Amino acid sequence: MTTKTTAIDPATKSMDDIVALCKRRGFVFPASEIYGGLNGFWDYGPLGTQLKNNLRDDWWKNMVECPPLDPDGHPLQIVGLDSAIIQNPKTWEASGHIAGFNDPMVDCRGCKARFRADHIDEYECPLKPSKKAGDHDKCDLTEPRQFNLMFETFIGAIKDEDAKAYLRPETAQGIFLDYKNIVDTMRVKVPFGIAQVGKAFRNEVTPRNFIFRSREFEQMEMEWFCHPDEAPKWYEFWKEQRMGWWASLGVAAENLRFRDHEEDELAHYSKMCVDVEYRYPFTAPGFGELEGIAHRGCFDLTQHQEHSKQKLEYFDQEGKQRYIPNVIEPASGLTRGVLVLLCEAYTPDDSRPSKVFMKFHPRLAPIKAGIFPLVNKDGMPQVAEKLYMDLRRRFTVQIDVKQNIGKRYARMDEAGTPFCFTVDGDTLSGQTVTVRHRDTQQQERIALDKVAEFLGEQIEDGE
Ligand code: ATP
Repeated sequence: MTTKTTAIDPATKSMDDIVALCKRRGFVFPASEIYGGLNGFWDYGPLGTQLKNNLRDDWWKNMVECPPLDPDGHPLQIVGLDSAIIQNPKTWEASGHIAGFNDPMVDCRGCKARFRADHIDEYECPLKPSKKAGDHDKCDLTEPRQFNLMFETFIGAIKDEDAKAYLRPETAQGIFLDYKNIVDTMRVKVPFGIAQVGKAFRNEVTPRNFIFRSREFEQMEMEWFCHPDEAPKWYEFWKEQRMGWWASLGVAAENLRFRDHEEDELAHYSKMCVDVEYRYPFTAPGFGELEGIAHRGCFDLTQHQEHSKQKLEYFDQEGKQRYIPNVIEPASGLTRGVLVLLCEAYTPDDSRPSKVFMKFHPRLAPIKAGIFPLVNKDGMPQVAEKLYMDLRRRFTVQIDVKQNIGKRYARMDEAGTPFCFTVDGDTLSGQTVTVRHRDTQQQERIALDKVAEFLGEQIEDGE
């Protein structure tokens, strides 16, 4: 079975409605809400955590456990890593983050708002009538000032310059720091990759658009080390792979696109860069970044070699050649990917009691199935309980005995649960249950002892 794509125009979806559903159903909550929240920080609730973990695990499986095949049909070599969030501060000198990881910010003396100077067109001035930032009569913008995005902290008891350290603004540098350890211990040969998923922190000037731009977020990054002559080939390879992966999660092709970076937009380390972009409800009809695929050349390893005085060259035994590998980096936001899944799944539908359902790919859905006894008597709860006990080791399933069946379906529709199994009078006599399909609301009967097999097939293949 192939994955269906949505035809709903994201511009017709309301971010306010999506944010409200996320709160109502336990996907995402504002962090520290009882204290009034904290701008740029979010908590992932029970369903959001499960969705995020499922997305992370799918990426990890696709990168590390079952990596793609090379053009000759051989599996690529990619190993995993989990490096520290706080590294020796010299890391960020070498990487260029202390000198150059800045965003230009401007303040408005009129309305007291703060904007990112390079994105000024995207902001509204808070004064009424609403106008673009800078366009109001009272607007009086300062000159742009550079603002470093790294969060600082101190190690140990004394808070002086020598004790200063940084929360990592990206997961990539930890990979470069362990490159030598991995070459020495894992018997990898160029070309190979190192993948990492974890938290990153950026003191964004203006966090906004829900979890799109936050100050604490998660990234999924893979550094692909290759021979310099082969870097252009691998850049194209990873471009296609990454787009294919997002599409495999059920994201509609018309909502995804590539955007090449202009020369003047390239980061200091980058030779070529392309973004995978998604059409978010708040950017539609335009697109916004989801993932960047960068050709980083030999910048990072060369810098760390110079600053650490450790040899980071690779010795190619067969070619008797010594060189610093080039790096192709597919870098995506895990939490930004969760936002894409939430926006893409959100499907208004007036025909059902919930008026909306979340059309997650069954592989990613936080709950795979709801199990309901039709009524809470006549032996039905016991059969439902047994079915739940059989399934729960293999699948994330929920049993729900409360309320009428319509309300239980509505809850599962908003949670994006692809299947609901109902135990009814016929189950007791004929050993069958009804299965309700979330997207079509259609029901069919299947044998009670075939439920696990059915669920396994549907989740593996998608609907
Ligand atoms: P931007 O230009 O939007 O600030 P970037 O190009 O600096 O982002 P990268 O450094 O390439 O972003 O980071 C890789 C990925 O990490 C991005 O494609 C995005 O998915 C994610 N990401 C970056 N910054 C944030 C953030 N503040 N909040 C959530 N995700 C982020």
